[in-house]
Amino acid sequence: MGICLFTMTLEAAAEGIRGFGAEAAAEFADAVDREARFPIEAFSELRRAGALGMLVPTELGGPGFTITEVAREVTELAQSCGSSGLILAMHSIQVAILVRHAPSETLERVVPQLLRGELLLANANSEIGLYGDRRNSICALEPTDTGFRLEKRGSTISYGEYADGVLATARRSAESPAHEQVFAICLRPDMTLEPLGEWDTLGMRGTCSRAGLLTAELSPELVLDNYADIFVRTSLSASAVLLGSVWLGLAEAAARKAHETVRRTGRKLAAAGPITQPPLAAVRLAELGVVLHQLREVVSAGAAYNEQTWDSEAVNEWRFSSRMDNFKVASSTLLQEVVHRASQICGMAGFQNGTPSSLGRIARDAAAAPLMVSNDRTLEAVARTLLVRKEL
Ligand SMILES: Cc1cc2nc3c(=O)[nH]c(=O)nc-3n(C[C@H](O)[C@H](O)[C@H](O)COP(=O)(O)OP(=O)(O)OC[C@H]3O[C@@H](n4cnc5c(N)ncnc54)[C@H](O)[C@@H]3O)c2cc1C
Repeated sequence: MGICLFTMTLEAAAEGIRGFGAEAAAEFADAVDREARFPIEAFSELRRAGALGMLVPTELGGPGFTITEVAREVTELAQSCGSSGLILAMHSIQVAILVRHAPSETLERVVPQLLRGELLLANANSEIGLYGDRRNSICALEPTDTGFRLEKRGSTISYGEYADGVLATARRSAESPAHEQVFAICLRPDMTLEPLGEWDTLGMRGTCSRAGLLTAELSPELVLDNYADIFVRTSLSASAVLLGSVWLGLAEAAARKAHETVRRTGRKLAAAGPITQPPLAAVRLAELGVVLHQLREVVSAGAAYNEQTWDSEAVNEWRFSSRMDNFKVASSTLLQEVVHRASQICGMAGFQNGTPSSLGRIARDAAAAPLMVSNDRTLEAVARTLLVRKEL
């Protein structure tokens, strides 16, 4: 296709994200959380650094990051600001879908914008009336003279108002059954989003994921015909890996605070004389380390399994979908355990807001993990297959 506006090296993009993640995302994370506002500062830097186009393959002029490489950057960012990490993860899931499933005429339109940092993509799969049921839709495409029209009442559209486009599931037509879904690429200026509620939540406040009425005019090449195929081949595993990498980032941040607390205690004890017995908090930290290492292993094994099965026939098997579902439930559950243990170690200083050991924002952000998508729904999907599968 020959799109080659500029090429960005993997190292340069990663450096831009890390540099900012380490300094400014952390600086604004508390304000973003307190004010429940989009992390504007982080994303103007990420746009500039080329992070929105990380997954664009080299043959399309991009840096060609793999999902695993993006996951690493997401973890890095989530350690500083959970909302920023989650937004980068959700955007990257949409890009993974586009570069793998969109026809070349669509890519010619969107890839240059991604590489210039001009296309932040949100998602509207959840729908008022269906909520976490991703594989069914109420809304349907309506044919027009030039293509289609979509109107969808999305129940949770993260950063929709700040996004340049929203990718949404819908029924193929008004006559289609609920499961016969297409994926609509809704782009400004042919798209509008009218807020239908507020976003005043426990955590992930900077994602601004309020409900909204999405309306879009779509030319035919902006409708990806087979969402069932997109889900199996890309969305399920990219979501598991990239969201898992957010949960790992939050866990790393909580563990770091617990470790700092223990080292402060160690310095105090050392000043008073030789340490004969490690304090209980250090033993608790050792236990936390065991859980954190499980989470690191789960995320890295999930990413490796995804790389190994990407584009293979294995993705059509229940074993694959169940493994991705197990990975999703394991990563979101282990995060809760790390945060709980960190809170026991940090004590009151972690419980209180405004101290270097405060865990409030991290603990509240972590509460989103089992809801995205509901772990109960995920386990129910696995349970269904276990009625006939021969191995666990
Ligand atoms: C921070 C955040 C950002 C999000 N961003 C987006 C976004 O950008 N785009 C988007 O589309 N969605 C987004 N979501 C929505 C998310 O992916 C889920 O769809 C949503 O959280 C599910 O909502 P729910 O818990 O109300 O509904 P449900 O999933 O319907 O769950 C409600 C309750 O019902 C139970 N339940 C319902 N049905 C079943 C079933 N069949 N089997 C088992 N249990 C069931 C669940 O266990 C749970 O207790 C976001 C969510 C969060 C928390």
